[in-house]
Amino acid sequence: MTSSAPVALITGAGSGIGRSLARVLALEGHAIAAVDLSELGLRSLADELKDKPLAWAVADVTDASGLQNAVRDLESKLGPVDLLIANAGVGYETSAVNYNVDAMNKIIGVNLIGVSNSIGAVLPGMIERKRGHLVGISSIASYRGLPRMLGYCASKAGVNAIFEGLRVELAPFGIHSTIVCPGWVKTPLTENLEGPMEHLLEVEDAAREIVYAIRNKLCFYTFPGQMRWKMRLMQFWPRSWQDGMIRRLMNRVKTKKLGEKEAQG
Ligand code: NAD
Repeated sequence: MTSSAPVALITGAGSGIGRSLARVLALEGHAIAAVDLSELGLRSLADELKDKPLAWAVADVTDASGLQNAVRDLESKLGPVDLLIANAGVGYETSAVNYNVDAMNKIIGVNLIGVSNSIGAVLPGMIERKRGHLVGISSIASYRGLPRMLGYCASKAGVNAIFEGLRVELAPFGIHSTIVCPGWVKTPLTENLEGPMEHLLEVEDAAREIVYAIRNKLCFYTFPGQMRWKMRLMQFWPRSWQDGMIRRLMNRVKTKKLGEKEAQG
């Protein structure tokens, strides 16, 4: 059942931002290739979008060959991937005081290596066809390291680094790339946190912002606007000022440890 619609591969499509993106892009005429660890999430998405061209596969983004196979299977059903949204991610506490190597490896494995594996599964085909669009769902946490979010910040900063480099290299091939840095968004991932989340967005609003960045082929997009300006301004501050502000802010946010109430995985 290959479709003539442009194919959007979304990792982490079973929940939160990925799921909301699947809805918006399907309404805009994309065929959706949905990947997630959660079969339940994928089945209910397929149910919701049953009138739209959609295929799904359970796969773990940390397993490069499993993911490759899943993507080949989806492409055989829908056609080659035009748009990758590398969105699957996890978030939980990774602190300096209780430094946990396993927790660090796991978060970097999903959020950074998982993004690299997702790119690897579609990029050779895009280069061959000389078209495509790669989108990495990063975070405002990529702008600098935050206390108790060491692994999360490192993974997202790594995503930005991959995308910054490939953007320059892939431009002559007609392949676009977009780094998206959302602020706080109401999803199962942030249910994991307690405390004030400034400018918290509904997931549908976040999806609309991301689709705006994709449609306009922006190379780097942070939202909401208030966060964008705060982050830009902060980059001009001396590190000592930044640290003071971050300490005050993060003292009010309670993170949960891996296993305490995991968002997923
Ligand atoms: P979510 O928990 O609602 O969704 C994440 C999805 O990823 C889940 O369906 C989960 O099953 C899937 N997933 C997790 N590990 C996976 C794996 N190894 N392989 C395949 N799928 C896997 O979270 P969300 O808030 O929608 O997060 C989506 C992305 O947005 C993440 O990359 C997250 O870091 C990023 N983000 C979220 C926020 C926020 O405030 N919610 C802010 C900035 C960035």
